[in-house]
Amino acid sequence: MSNTITEAAVLNKTEKGLLIGGRFRAAAAGRTFAVENPATGTTLCEVADGSAEDALDALGAASAAQSSWAATPPRERAEILRRAYQLLTERTEEIALLITLEMGKSLAESRAEVAYGAEFFRWFSEEAVRIRGDWTVNPGGSGRIVLMRQPVGPCLLITPWNVPLAMPTRKIGPAIAAGCTMILKPAEQTPLTALMLAGILAEAGLPDGVLNVVTTSSPGPVTEPLIHDERLRKLSFTGSTEVGRILIASSADKVLRTSMELGGNGPFIVCADADIDAAVDGAMIAKMRNIGQACIAANRFYLHADVAEEFTDKLTDRMSGMAVGSGVDEGVEVGPLIDAGQRDKVAALVDDAVRRGAHIRTGGKAASGPGYFYPPTVLTDVPSSSRLAREEIFGPVAPISTFTDEQEMLRAANDTESGLVSYVYTRDLDRAIRLAENLETGMVGINQGLVSNPAAPFGGMKQSGLGREGGSVGIDEYLEVKYVAVGVA
Ligand code: NAD
Repeated sequence: MSNTITEAAVLNKTEKGLLIGGRFRAAAAGRTFAVENPATGTTLCEVADGSAEDALDALGAASAAQSSWAATPPRERAEILRRAYQLLTERTEEIALLITLEMGKSLAESRAEVAYGAEFFRWFSEEAVRIRGDWTVNPGGSGRIVLMRQPVGPCLLITPWNVPLAMPTRKIGPAIAAGCTMILKPAEQTPLTALMLAGILAEAGLPDGVLNVVTTSSPGPVTEPLIHDERLRKLSFTGSTEVGRILIASSADKVLRTSMELGGNGPFIVCADADIDAAVDGAMIAKMRNIGQACIAANRFYLHADVAEEFTDKLTDRMSGMAVGSGVDEGVEVGPLIDAGQRDKVAALVDDAVRRGAHIRTGGKAASGPGYFYPPTVLTDVPSSSRLAREEIFGPVAPISTFTDEQEMLRAANDTESGLVSYVYTRDLDRAIRLAENLETGMVGINQGLVSNPAAPFGGMKQSGLGREGGSVGIDEYLEVKYVAVGVA
């Protein structure tokens, strides 16, 4: 970390108010809420606690800015994104520190998130000038079918705490590129990164009212009136499947377009012919990125019986050797979980599995405070009846079971309501293709523990979501296709 950036300085320069119509301001009712440092359990600072009234003001600002923003030349929209990419990259150290302070992940991981998050702006700056229509001669020859793609209009973007910079940029990037205005409602645990991002976009030249930010401690009551307001045209949500279902139901009222990036329960499959060292490297990324608090985290490990012992020994070695501590300390690899509730949930899942017969190879016991630490944990012989095998863990726990029959393993891997990601390690091309085609997930990593890539479509099947973010299709979520029938004699 550059020695010119201190915690106090980065907190001091971050806005704490709502961003509405280009101005940071206090909540109308004057309320604030505390942002906590999960490594210490202490308060970092207070931010504005927006109300429904504030959110409707933000929608008013987004709605007022929509038509001029949609008419702004694509090249200008692209240049704003490009400048914001540059600024994010230049300010990696201070943004990374802010992410670590409010979310807990290590500085190295926060820096990687800044690079990943900024890349969405670079990618969508390149997409902004490539929004294409279509022109077809009617099959009967007598007319023309003309398609144009137009911005959908004001959007509500709701984002989670686990990736506080890149989840917003993955939505804001395509919305800006498409010509949509928006209201961002960041998670209450991590509002500061979103506010810093908003400041950077303003500096990059984003006009007033295009991006509005409403921080609040009561997300349901504050966003509900927006979802029932006809000026809002789109809801893009990343978070839990549970909240996603509520938002889809509310969106039915005005038949609001929705994109949903929801929870996961990813299987990590190691076949008998896999390169075990590579599989362990991949598992460390797929399991431990974000301290296991990732929708694409490997949630269940299926190891072929022939390689199970070697893989488990090597994974246990690596997991038990990780440095746990406050993310701001250089060298720390595993920070705290986001809050006491998350730490207690992880502990309860592990205890349940152990009661049902699972064996602890490393970890398995929450640290006592301060901070919400849980150690990297490996469990073997995890029965399919345990909660660990069915629920999204969101913590640094690797539950292992073994298989001998590929079809049985595939049935078990697919036996979940989630369908976000799966990982397969094998050196057999036929097997890789067979599994990739039969795993019911929106993304499959073959001999790769990391699938996130701004140039690729991210999203899930089944109850993991609707729509895709990133890649060449990511911008479609923010565009309407309009068909014009042209009569030609
Ligand atoms: P969460 O659903 O509790 O919260 C997500 C966001 O929704 C937050 O901003 C929160 O304030 C808001 N929210 C909560 N209740 C709401 C309501 N009633 N109305 C409107 N907004 C509401 O999820 P979380 O705990 O912040 O994040 C963890 C979840 O997010 C996990 O399930 C994870 O898998 C998922 N996630 C998915 C992806 C993906 O791309 N598929 C990415 C990251 C996280």
